[in-house]
Amino acid sequence: MQVKVVKFGGSSLADAEHFKQVASIIHADETRRYVVPSAPGKRFSEDTKVTDMLYACYDLVRRGEDMTPVFDQIRARYNSIIEELGIDCSLEDELTFVRAALQHNSGRDYAASRGEYLNGIVLAKYLGFDFIDAANVIFFRDDGSFDGEHTNAVLREVLQRHPRAVIPGFYGSMPNGTIKTFSRGGSDITGSIVARAAEADLYENWTDVSGFLMADPRIVKNAQPIDTITYRELRELSYMGATVLHEDAIFPVRFAGIPINIRNTNAPADAGTMIVAETDKYDTEHVITGIAGKKGFSVITIEKDMMNAEIGFGRRVLGVLEEEGISFEHLPSGIDTMSVVLNTHELEEHRDRLLTRICTKVNPDSISVEDGLALIAVVGRGMVKAKGTAARVFRAAADASVNIRMIDQGSCELNIILGVDAADFEHAMQAIYAEFVK
Ligand code: ASP
Repeated sequence: MQVKVVKFGGSSLADAEHFKQVASIIHADETRRYVVPSAPGKRFSEDTKVTDMLYACYDLVRRGEDMTPVFDQIRARYNSIIEELGIDCSLEDELTFVRAALQHNSGRDYAASRGEYLNGIVLAKYLGFDFIDAANVIFFRDDGSFDGEHTNAVLREVLQRHPRAVIPGFYGSMPNGTIKTFSRGGSDITGSIVARAAEADLYENWTDVSGFLMADPRIVKNAQPIDTITYRELRELSYMGATVLHEDAIFPVRFAGIPINIRNTNAPADAGTMIVAETDKYDTEHVITGIAGKKGFSVITIEKDMMNAEIGFGRRVLGVLEEEGISFEHLPSGIDTMSVVLNTHELEEHRDRLLTRICTKVNPDSISVEDGLALIAVVGRGMVKAKGTAARVFRAAADASVNIRMIDQGSCELNIILGVDAADFEHAMQAIYAEFVK
């Protein structure tokens, strides 16, 4: 039988109504055998996620203040879900235990993880599935990094004994048994880890949107959904700020070649976006897969006559960045100029020292920094095959009177990166989108 691993985000499990919807999705397909839940998320926009309430409890205890009002809200969230679902399940003992642990400084990660833990118990009961505590199957090393191989070996074996189970997302355990979480949104990673261990045919990631859109809908109205995207394209777009899936969630399934399907819990009939390893097919209508961008970049421009003949020039400049612990984004260069594009935020505290040190190392004719750059990535596996894509990108920008300050085409022809003034950012995104999506 096929195996699907299904992960449901916080908004998909925010209240009893959503639990019912989730159960109907799971029961509609008997291959949906392993379920990874987040903690209850927001029911409405001003609502607070259970995870955030747990962090608040931790902070209150640390400051020596009373966490009771917040903890009672957490209790009420779970109890209302249990009551409305009409299941025979009480979390009272668990809640008493968690409360005592929080009171005794059990750690920030422990506090946050209880949202998923308690939700997992309720969901398992409601579905009639086994419950597997993630602390027993997801492992971190002493240095805090995730131990993929150990986890995979143990989890694979445990899953074989449980044909249907709920494994809470977001956390695992350290070698000394204490709880550690992934970074925020980390249940996506757990889903991917479980999919790998279950040797799943598909990892379904259920959220509150019908997949990835070709552009940020806050900038481009009615942006179209992406039907199929490769892992590499997704990396490019996510890096530039397109967020639906946690960045690190790609690695375990990519390793195992398992596709991810982003689906909408509130519109289960929508096909969503399929994320695959490779595909020959591409969107011939649109050519590009999507565009994404971010503001907040700076460019350091270094000029020196005969730079091209000075062996080791680039290495010395980059060496300074390395010593300062700064990573760079792009490195456009001319014969006698070299520019380093980096995140303004990263540059901030190092600015003066960095410039002085570059001057000492390479003795340039001039060096300057400009802030206020925005980067736009136009991404598409179809670009390699379709002639004139770059021309269309630049024409669209020119027609919209956008001044392009930097261009970089990734070596695998998967993307074209433009640097524009932050003030032109939204406008440029809209113009490029309109060029490809008529
Ligand atoms: N509940 C956690 C968070 O809010 C993890 C997750 O939802 O993936 O970040």
